[in-house]
Amino acid sequence: MTDRRTFLKSAGLLTAAAAVINPAQIFARNNRSESGKPQGKKELELEWCPFMAKMKHVFTIANSSRSTTPIVLTKITYDGYTGYGEAAMPPYLGESIASATEFLKKARPVLKKFSSPFMIGEIMAEIDAITTYNAAAKASIDIALHDLVGNIFGQPWWKIWGFDPKNCPDNSFTVGLASKEEVKVKAKEAAAEGHLIKVKLGRTEEQDKMMINTIREVTDTPICIDANQGWKDKYYALDMINWLNTKNVNMIEQPMPKYALEETGWLTERSPLPIMADESCQRLTDVRRLHGYFSGINIKLMKCTGLHEAREMVSLAQALHMRLMIGCMTETSVAIAAGAQIAPVCEWTDLDGNWLIANDCFTSSKVIDGKVIAKDAPGLGLTMNKGADLKFASEE
Ligand code: MG
Repeated sequence: MTDRRTFLKSAGLLTAAAAVINPAQIFARNNRSESGKPQGKKELELEWCPFMAKMKHVFTIANSSRSTTPIVLTKITYDGYTGYGEAAMPPYLGESIASATEFLKKARPVLKKFSSPFMIGEIMAEIDAITTYNAAAKASIDIALHDLVGNIFGQPWWKIWGFDPKNCPDNSFTVGLASKEEVKVKAKEAAAEGHLIKVKLGRTEEQDKMMINTIREVTDTPICIDANQGWKDKYYALDMINWLNTKNVNMIEQPMPKYALEETGWLTERSPLPIMADESCQRLTDVRRLHGYFSGINIKLMKCTGLHEAREMVSLAQALHMRLMIGCMTETSVAIAAGAQIAPVCEWTDLDGNWLIANDCFTSSKVIDGKVIAKDAPGLGLTMNKGADLKFASEE
């Protein structure tokens, strides 16, 4: 009896101990001792490198066009391990290489306060508190931390989170606003590269319908629409959506201005197609606010400060029965590989940012059968491309 009691007592203690020991600590300890990897400094060391992404084609949406995207790549090292991150900053987001660099200078001493990279939630809370804005710069730290910690665990994040890449939906490939002949060429290219075509609408009715009819002359591939807030009148928007519903369109993103919530709610109630929030949805706090007005949300790492918050947005949206999409900016494979970790729980993925740039500096997730599939490799599964001349440095 005594033996049994002692056994139960020690078993109970073991169970309790297992509950409080962070599995990350066990893994990191085992990984180090087994691999015999030389140990580096146990300090979070942040460096960065400005990078100008050159677009393959001039990119046009409802209110702007451009041929480059400013990016700042980040690198965090800890104990001999490395993680890479990225801030991609299309000009309409209001961030720049200068503002991101200023932010990273402030973030560097904050990271040094932490003795390990595992408490990503706590670290990101402090990083977030540095300023109100700089979401992309914050994401560059979050993504590098995830790559770093995944590398230490020896596992990709989709696996750590228990997601199944078999559930990834077909990816969409964007066809920008262009002339009729250009649209035909791009639509064929898009149909070959992805299983869905994403079309940016929101100019005149004639131009918008021309885009769709032209695409339908060359392919039957399903289309996702992004109006980028371009429709100002709810009755017009509903007429357009009803017409689009006859053209094998399966989703409408941000039909109306981001603050036109009541009108969007009216539209969502009557629309035969799901209405997704993009410009209206930035961060976790927006998800509950948009519930009832949109069918779902488009999560973008550069707006929501990275994977930690994106994962929380996924859980909240699922709890609210809202539909999920993961999108991107014009990004290198670093941020696309991060987005690809979330892809298995989304109904739509719009992770074509790295296909649009001519000078990608990393390789990671692969397009398999029209789907963007994250690699089954530690962290974000990143390999730096040969000839990528990246010089990471820091200053406070
Ligand atoms: Mg959009």
